[in-house]
Amino acid sequence: MELLDGKLLSSKIKDEVKAGSDSYHQTPILAVVTIGDDEASQVYVNNKKKACEYCDMSMMHFSYEDGVKESVVIKKIKELNKDKTVNGIILQLPLPEKYNTDKLINTISPLKDVDGLTDVSQGKLLAGNPTFVPCTPKGILEIFDHYKIELEGKHVVVVGRSLLVSKPIMLECIRRNATVTMCHSKTKNLGEYTKTADILIVAVGKKHLIDESMVKEGVVIIDVGINRIEGKLYGDVNPNVESKASYVTPVPGGVGPMTVAMLLKNTLIAYKNQNKVE
Ligand code: NAP
Repeated sequence: MELLDGKLLSSKIKDEVKAGSDSYHQTPILAVVTIGDDEASQVYVNNKKKACEYCDMSMMHFSYEDGVKESVVIKKIKELNKDKTVNGIILQLPLPEKYNTDKLINTISPLKDVDGLTDVSQGKLLAGNPTFVPCTPKGILEIFDHYKIELEGKHVVVVGRSLLVSKPIMLECIRRNATVTMCHSKTKNLGEYTKTADILIVAVGKKHLIDESMVKEGVVIIDVGINRIEGKLYGDVNPNVESKASYVTPVPGGVGPMTVAMLLKNTLIAYKNQNKVE
């Protein structure tokens, strides 16, 4: 069994992004909008800030208290859309429940939608012509490429059906000629499906939902889940799968660091598109 080392690979990618960023006379700028003080979100925003600094990009953080009027946030996003110095805009999710996530996300200009979550970006992905692939699925594809994991003709089973991770990775796997099965909370006998996977992608948010009895010999496992329990991080996959799997992403140190690296990569793509440079 080999670990798919997202930490190492993400460092390599960040170095490439830094080299790209350094070659331009203007600094690429990512704007991050947050509402409320969700603890996990604060950690993620901090990680993004450190990663931006490492890559010689700037991160502007617009932090609003839970209770801010939706119209105030919409006005700010519209200003950022118009600001020629800002290349990428993200809204840190999840938002407090009373906010209309869909409406706020779709206020972001598709040209600056580096999380790839607006309806326009999702539609382009569905059509097979994405500008910005959402960061977590994009990170998984980079792992496949780096470790030369071929998808053509393989059976990929995705557990979870979110717009953020599962649906985009399903589309991208189909684009690479895999056959894909998608499972969710209403799937009966989940193990019967996961056992047939050549490549198993799990994005649920339930500690150790998948164990060795639910996978076949030689399977490649991508564990997207992040479950923070008493200060420790766990994936959705029990480490006992290592006795059967050929490759596994660790948690932490697998998909997580790749997601941040892809945000920087998408911001650089946005910069290049907006400034018409290579
Ligand atoms: P999400 O929106 O939280 O949805 C979870 C999905 O899991 C839903 O589709 C749900 O099915 C399904 N599900 C719930 N219980 C299930 C069960 N017992 N069996 C099978 N499916 C079940 O998903 P997400 O945003 O993709 O996040 C999933 C996990 O990935 C979370 O732990 C999140 O923190 C993590 N994550 C990590 C990264 C990273 O960078 N590593 C990035 C994003 C997310 P229904 O649709 O039927 O409800």
